[in-house]
Amino acid sequence: MTNEVDLHTHTTASDGVLSPCQLVRLALQKGLKVIAITDHDSTEGLDEALEAARGTGLQVIPGIEVGTDIPRGEVHVLGYFLEYHRAGLQDVLSTLRHSRLDRAKGMLQKLRDLGMPLEWERVAAIAGRGSVGRPHVAQAMLEKGYVTSLRDAFDLYLGRNGPAYVERFKLSPVEAVQLILQNQGIPVLAHPADIENLEALLPELLAAGLAGVEAFYNGYGAELVQSIVNLAIKDGLIVTGGSDFHGLPTMSPTDLGGNFVPIKAARRLQEYKLKLEANRMVQERH
Ligand SMILES: [Zn+2]
Ligand SMILES: [Zn+2]
Repeated sequence: MTNEVDLHTHTTASDGVLSPCQLVRLALQKGLKVIAITDHDSTEGLDEALEAARGTGLQVIPGIEVGTDIPRGEVHVLGYFLEYHRAGLQDVLSTLRHSRLDRAKGMLQKLRDLGMPLEWERVAAIAGRGSVGRPHVAQAMLEKGYVTSLRDAFDLYLGRNGPAYVERFKLSPVEAVQLILQNQGIPVLAHPADIENLEALLPELLAAGLAGVEAFYNGYGAELVQSIVNLAIKDGLIVTGGSDFHGLPTMSPTDLGGNFVPIKAARRLQEYKLKLEANRMVQERH
């Protein structure tokens, strides 16, 4: 049986290789029925994708993947069917997108003041397609001989309270859930098996209004999927899934639509959206 659904994909609006239009064409070629486009902190590919899919029979769910930080790692929250044209949402997303870049440039400025100039082009080249972060700055410092190890770069300069440390704007996972709900979207926890200490985080997210969890994820084995499905049943969450397709084999070993996601996942998102809209109409009447 060929797969029909892929609810986690990236385009050139973030770090994917295919343009929104090319992604839609590929989905059609593969015979998919529903895809969601979930670029990192960006909805800039959605208009183009929705336009390209019009009249083709392929449903494109407008989505996003919001990156957030916890003390020991990153947590990604997917948002489906959100009203992405709202100015308030776009302001937050643009701040998020700029924060990493601003921070990296701020660190380079501080290092220059400390007598350790680095070239921005070199740091960006080390980061490659990813966004520039502290590890890339540390690597550039090592290359220049300013430090003798990456560890020293962090301990002496880039660590919190270090002389080249720069704070950046970031959302907590709970704030990401709230942001998605405020914009009439459906918040879903992405690739939960990657999260350390999920048990501690989940109650907080549920209280904030988390509606689903990604279980049918690229690379997750049957046993892991089942354990996440069980968790979802216990907490009344929608189960979703997707390939996390980026268009590059190195970044997403699974092809578009390459892992099985039940069509029910897409239907349940649709039902949830109708419920959100009904709730809003009731609220507006009161
Ligand atoms: Zn992710
Ligand atoms: Zn992703």
